[in-house]
Amino acid sequence: MPRLIDPVYMYNPRVEAVPDALVTAVVDHEPPLAQAAIPTTVQPGGGLCFALEAAWGRARRAWLRRVRPGYVRRMAGLRRGQCDGCTHDIIDARDVKLVRSVCGYWFRPEDDRFRWRERVPLARHGLAEVVFASALCAPVLALLVRSAVRASPAWWLLAGAVGWLWFQLV
Ligand SMILES: [Zn+2]
Repeated sequence: MPRLIDPVYMYNPRVEAVPDALVTAVVDHEPPLAQAAIPTTVQPGGGLCFALEAAWGRARRAWLRRVRPGYVRRMAGLRRGQCDGCTHDIIDARDVKLVRSVCGYWFRPEDDRFRWRERVPLARHGLAEVVFASALCAPVLALLVRSAVRASPAWWLLAGAVGWLWFQLV
């Protein structure tokens, strides 16, 4: 719900909004610009899939450091650019993906073993969503199709709906 405050009074601490002014305009920024944060990732709004991908990245880096320290050292040697006071925890090109717009480190294309993902005809930032939505929809769809075949053709309606939802998500 937009709050109703006259923008003239909104940013001036010495003026108290008069009751009449409260119904004259709609706040055009929510939250107000004064509270705006500088984006720290390529997807400032975040979201469930983004959080999942970030968590997956943390787990992957912990695994690499424990199991493949040689790889971690090799990638550190191949890393280009610099990022003062870097807080982005970059091991390889996959880690740069989520912070590309704010981190100074980068990898040459020939040092990115995961570049094949760019050739998948989907935006690379959408890959996590696709995998997640498919993991969610595929079993449900399979179950519905089985019911449609075995029990009643009415299940096809629901199967079609889930299939459509899947298509929309992907
Ligand atoms: Zn950085």
